[in-house]
Amino acid sequence: MDMTRIRDRMVEHLVTRRGIRDRGVTNAMRMVPREKFVDPGFEEFAYEDAPLSIGDGQTISQPFIVALMIEKADLKAGDKVLEVGTGSGYASALLSRIARHVYSIERHERLALQARERFEKLGYDNIDVRVGDGSKGWAKAAPFDAIIVSAGAPEVPPALKEQLDLGGRLIIPVGRDHAQRLKRIRRTAATTFEEEDLGGVLFVPLIGEDAWTAEHPMYTATTPSLHAEKAPCELIREAAEEFSSVDDRRFAAFFDRFAESRIVLLGESTHGTAEFYEARAAVSRHLIEHYGFNLIAVEADWPDAATLDHRINGRTTKGSPPFSRFPKWMWRNLEFSGFARWMKEENDRRKASRADPIRFYGLDLYNMSESIRSVLDYLERADPETAGIARERYGCLSPWQSNPATYGRAVLTDAYRSCEEAVLKQCTELLTRSLEDTASNGDDFLNAAQSARLLAAAERYYRVMYYGGSQAWNLRDTYMADTVEHLLDFHGPAAKIIIWAHNSHIGDARYTEMAAARDERNLGQLCRQRFDGMTSLIGLGTHSGEVIAADDWDGQAEKKPMNPSLPQSYERLCHDCGKPRFLLDLKADEQLHASLVEQRLQRFIGVIYRPETERLSHYMLTSLSRQYDAFLWFDETHALTPLAPQDPGTGDPETFPYGL
Ligand code: SAM
Repeated sequence: MDMTRIRDRMVEHLVTRRGIRDRGVTNAMRMVPREKFVDPGFEEFAYEDAPLSIGDGQTISQPFIVALMIEKADLKAGDKVLEVGTGSGYASALLSRIARHVYSIERHERLALQARERFEKLGYDNIDVRVGDGSKGWAKAAPFDAIIVSAGAPEVPPALKEQLDLGGRLIIPVGRDHAQRLKRIRRTAATTFEEEDLGGVLFVPLIGEDAWTAEHPMYTATTPSLHAEKAPCELIREAAEEFSSVDDRRFAAFFDRFAESRIVLLGESTHGTAEFYEARAAVSRHLIEHYGFNLIAVEADWPDAATLDHRINGRTTKGSPPFSRFPKWMWRNLEFSGFARWMKEENDRRKASRADPIRFYGLDLYNMSESIRSVLDYLERADPETAGIARERYGCLSPWQSNPATYGRAVLTDAYRSCEEAVLKQCTELLTRSLEDTASNGDDFLNAAQSARLLAAAERYYRVMYYGGSQAWNLRDTYMADTVEHLLDFHGPAAKIIIWAHNSHIGDARYTEMAAARDERNLGQLCRQRFDGMTSLIGLGTHSGEVIAADDWDGQAEKKPMNPSLPQSYERLCHDCGKPRFLLDLKADEQLHASLVEQRLQRFIGVIYRPETERLSHYMLTSLSRQYDAFLWFDETHALTPLAPQDPGTGDPETFPYGL
């Protein structure tokens, strides 16, 4: 393997393109062989965009983060630098290529010795390594021009500030409960310091006298071996509640433990796995039949779901058949079709006994054209004069309805005015009707009001989407959580809701790289925060099999073989336990919980699957037992069965896709 080329690529793709400009840093990264700092056998992962395990529950940091920390330390050739948290030695090696001398402290003796050996072999003779507690610094070698701390502290340790030279820079992740921020502290005078926030990060904890101590949960969390004598696999094997099939009555009864929740969120680690749909259908039926759950809300657009809601409630619908846009297979599939038919049959039974029906809703915000139609239809009936005004206001969105992703770009050019004001005004006016108009408490009003909310959120969504970053994601998931709240409000205190959405939406984002690296929040987190004690988050996962997915957005749905899960992932851990199907209650056993707090990779396959860039495209670090309340495991899974496209000549029949 030509390592120089691979290294150059890493620097180009993972470092320079993300804004690291310091030539000293990028040159050092091209020079230091990162593959020499990982365990034998893991060399092939050394150049990926991720932290990697180096044993003892510790990690070699992600290349970009190391580069960012060193750039922000603003090093000069003559500088004397301290690194706290030597780990593999990689960051110290980089520092040694830029600065005059590096002092490096590591609390794990094995790691310190190994790093020292690596420096010797590479001939890096300007690094001193010591075993000890770096939260106290290295007083004898102080003062330092720069100090880099490669582990997260609850507060800035005073000794480190003290050991900065005048003008010296300290780079350190600080924060409690996984909400770490990277800080730069500059000593401006004997007793004054300047502090700057460099963004969210996720580091293993700094453990020491002036850092996390043995009593703190953060400490117990990341060093489970101290508290849980058993290996995670053994704990999983003991706690796994096995089942043979989701049709097994025992299976559905496993979920009795969530009966008291008001919101149960059921995830999926792909958007194209049959078992995930079948399991969610079985669990939903059980919770509806036995525990009074009456609302289902899914990761689909409001207007499309409304069409299905009408059909399962025996109402006629007009407009195009639902779920006509990419990715159609997510709802037009055989497995979901069976559940749709069950909802209809159940509602027919309920109608006969005058019981309240099951209602079905969509939480997503993509279908703008149908939403505009819903608002206008409602106003045409309720207040034709206002309908004219609404039509004019929504006119500014019309050019973008078929390809709203280009809206953000158009707004940027200034040639087009943003529709923000008009769309918001329409939404506010419609919502205030509910206060004035007693007839506006019904379903039709809910539909129109939610469509107006969708349009206001979608307008913003597409405007910010152009810039990338976390804003668009946060907007979408906040909109979803708001919709859940509106639904519960609308249906009253007895209402209970089941949500079907991807694990990336329903697993608490605070305990994944989403929050740490990208400042993202999600639906599961917001439900937990807003409905404390009433929310259950259940993730679903798999090791291997086949999946329906596309190569690109708007691409063809294909059945694709899934790569077996990566070593060091939660999936591989579950696979290694050797049980094919089980539920893991992550709250039932303290030891199990503690041992699955440790960060590991987890796989996320959406509507696009790119096996050739598996690690980069589909994995992130997570803390499983904090992210979910329970995890449902299918070792091997099958692709779901998309419903056949209709004859293009005749178009979709009115009852498509469920025959309802
Ligand atoms: N810079 C390292 C590299 O390039 O591989 C990665 C460091 S790893 C993210 C954090 C390291 O900090 C771990 O090896 C951990 O043992 C160490 N550590 C935690 N608390 C420490 C302390 N008080 N003093 C010294 N090392 C500490």
